[in-house]
Amino acid sequence: MDRSSSSAPPLTDQVSAAMLHNAGLFLKKAAEEIAAHGDDSNAAFDIDRATLVTVLMQIAVELSATALVLKHEGFVGVTKPKDLPATDAEAKALWEAGKIRTINFEQIKPKAAKYLGDEAFWLNVDFLQRARNKLVHFHAPIIEGDRFDLKYDAVQVLLQIIAALRRTEEHEFAFGAMNLLGLELFNRLVRTEHYQEEAAARAREIDPNPHRCGCCGARAYLRDDDTCLTCGYSSEETFLRCPECSKRAVFYDHLNLDANPWLKARCGQCDWEGLAARCPPCEVDYLIERHALPICPHCEDA
Ligand SMILES: [Zn+2]
Ligand SMILES: [Zn+2]
Ligand SMILES: [Zn+2]
Repeated sequence: MDRSSSSAPPLTDQVSAAMLHNAGLFLKKAAEEIAAHGDDSNAAFDIDRATLVTVLMQIAVELSATALVLKHEGFVGVTKPKDLPATDAEAKALWEAGKIRTINFEQIKPKAAKYLGDEAFWLNVDFLQRARNKLVHFHAPIIEGDRFDLKYDAVQVLLQIIAALRRTEEHEFAFGAMNLLGLELFNRLVRTEHYQEEAAARAREIDPNPHRCGCCGARAYLRDDDTCLTCGYSSEETFLRCPECSKRAVFYDHLNLDANPWLKARCGQCDWEGLAARCPPCEVDYLIERHALPICPHCEDA
């Protein structure tokens, strides 16, 4: 092994980092395509958009899978024995010339499953791979039914890929995704109708009566986990009691209330919407109706 340039990270780390970076680029492009479809449209993805979304996500998965096997197992994990570079210097030269011959993705997959994703993730990978092969090798038409399916599932699959890559826990998926996609794009994706419906259905399997999220509006806020399955928001268990339904379920932006005379508030269990205010002398947060004056119920008679 050539360790002469001892300060540089190992070549396999450099190569896998470059591959993962590119996987992130493709995922971001896929996200932009999905978001550009717009929610008001009842139509399936058109053929060009479906093609781009499928191929970009599939390339990202394939790159990431290969990168992680390379990172953990070295070149021996991703090449046939006869193609294995003898030294780091040879590997570097082959890499720079674009001549590293890897084993195919079918052979990479079982190895990559050790480092990436769960069963549901790999089922989606198989779907993407079949769709991608159809498109890329034979330019087979992608039928409308498949383009509807893709539109319905795209956000969930995309966020699942990002979560697998960032190795975040399910309830922390939002941090990795916001980081990669940027806040604006992330917010547009998690507000798409079909993703919200899909996440709400998943939430109901965990919590029979999830809150409607105070941040994204999906009925997917798990009460025990104190987090939204759709957008990742957590109120940090800060809720006020609803004047309408009496449940302790009113969301408000408690972190920013000090800097504002009042802020919007809404109940996660019923349809009540109003305002939250903070009383400086009592240091208590309270709710008022939308056009009412903020008068603290605790010190108004004082
Ligand atoms: Zn949410
Ligand atoms: Zn309520
Ligand atoms: Zn007060």
